[in-house]
Amino acid sequence: MGDKKDVVILGAGIGGLAAGYFLSRTGKYKVTILEKEPVIGGLCGSFKHDGFTLDYGAHKIYSVIPGILDEIVNLMGDRLLKLPKRNRLFLNRHLVDYPLRLGNLSQTLGPAMFFRLGMGYAFELFKGALNRNDAGSYEEYIIRRFGRPAYKLVFEPLADKVWGNPSSLHLEMARTRVPSSGGLEVILKLLGIKKETAETSAESFYYPRNGFGDFPNALKEQIERMDGKIITNAKVTEIRKEDEKISSVICSIHGEHRSFPCDLLISSIPIEELGRLVFRDEDSEFNHAVGSLQFRHLILIYIFVNRPLILSDQWIFFPERQFIFSRIFEQKQMNPDLCPPDKTAICCDFTCSEDSWQWQTSNEELTKKCVEGLVEGGFIKAEEVIGHLVKRRKNFYPRYDLQYEDKMQVVINKLKQVENLLLTGRIGMYNYNNADHCMDMGRFISEKLVVGISCHQIIEEMEKHVRDYRIVD
Ligand SMILES: Cc1cc2nc3c(=O)[nH]c(=O)nc-3n(C[C@H](O)[C@H](O)[C@H](O)COP(=O)(O)OP(=O)(O)OC[C@H]3O[C@@H](n4cnc5c(N)ncnc54)[C@H](O)[C@@H]3O)c2cc1C
Repeated sequence: MGDKKDVVILGAGIGGLAAGYFLSRTGKYKVTILEKEPVIGGLCGSFKHDGFTLDYGAHKIYSVIPGILDEIVNLMGDRLLKLPKRNRLFLNRHLVDYPLRLGNLSQTLGPAMFFRLGMGYAFELFKGALNRNDAGSYEEYIIRRFGRPAYKLVFEPLADKVWGNPSSLHLEMARTRVPSSGGLEVILKLLGIKKETAETSAESFYYPRNGFGDFPNALKEQIERMDGKIITNAKVTEIRKEDEKISSVICSIHGEHRSFPCDLLISSIPIEELGRLVFRDEDSEFNHAVGSLQFRHLILIYIFVNRPLILSDQWIFFPERQFIFSRIFEQKQMNPDLCPPDKTAICCDFTCSEDSWQWQTSNEELTKKCVEGLVEGGFIKAEEVIGHLVKRRKNFYPRYDLQYEDKMQVVINKLKQVENLLLTGRIGMYNYNNADHCMDMGRFISEKLVVGISCHQIIEEMEKHVRDYRIVD
């Protein structure tokens, strides 16, 4: 017990908790997790409101990373439900399959548009046979796989909503978010001749029956069972260094300052905030690089409706610009027991930048636009709305611009000079990822540490490892 190393973890989202869980399991680390909010879970948490248990948008448990799904199933056992996945895309007032299939699109879009899409695919297939160079941007990657007409119809407006101006998006954003093989295989899938695989589309997924937040809760229980501590309301105010090693973390907890000595620090808090705390603005090149990494803010608008159920899908994507949201999600589709029997809630999610009209607009005005969109799409009637709730979260979606790799190189080179510092999580590692990837990051860190690999090397290896993550719908 006495010879365990003290590890302090910043942030009790799934990233920080996963690191704490895997490190506790080694029996070599005494884990303390510091969370600034009164509750744990971050964006993977759930909360209660007027008899509803709600998640922060549509969250499913799914993974194609070897062993990770088994880890989660072992952790949660019968606290999980297994659900068939039902999600589609709303286009031209119709619901179409997602990932796209040509047969389905032809019924929705009519013969002329269907012909244009088909010609677009054929043209790109022909061009692809002549041109074997790699795509240079998000736009090129998608056009080469699906053709320009499909890019213009679906991918460009959806990407514009989620990340803003897709022509300045790095190719990595497409690889992460639109997992797809190239050329002929895409065409065969579009024609419905070849099936999607587990790597490109989930047929079913797991969901914690008490709300997604039960996943972080289960991690917390295990960490505490292994003598770890999770301290909420703990805002990090200072990180002390001796030479190139972090010696302690100072926190303000209910207005009192407490010091946490550490042998190892793992951060899942925003990478820029960590940079400021560790280097206190001492390196202008680093400050510039970390400060210019781009993020998008997240807005979630919950509309409460006086009807038992609205959708037959769990979530639906909305590429068209007349809808301000990019996706809607009905919590009751995950587990009806999470909501009152006679009412339901639709969560509309969208992202934006700090200076966008969306971020500057009042909650009431945004809610009005969401209700109008839901009415226009034929999902609800205005008079059925009985309430709303808005949640805003700053800087949650990493946005890979065309220079992001160079910036990350500067950031990583600086951070790895600290002998006992590691990064994890979505905003902690600046990695556009899902909860299963955060679990994998925690496992990766712990497996490397127990065989004596230095933090310096782990950061380097992890930076490469996480670039292979793919988000599967
Ligand atoms: C709409 C939406 C849908 C999604 N769908 C899915 C899905 O279907 N499946 C899936 O697996 N994933 C999904 N994700 C992704 C998933 O939510 C993230 O991968 C995950 O939440 C990232 O966890 P994290 O710990 O890195 O970050 P966070 O959840 O942001 O946690 C970071 C924690 O650090 C704390 N913190 C910040 N600053 C400080 C500080 N200074 N001191 C102490 N603590 C601090 C925060 O309060 C927070 O608790 C979705 C995300 C969104 C937004």
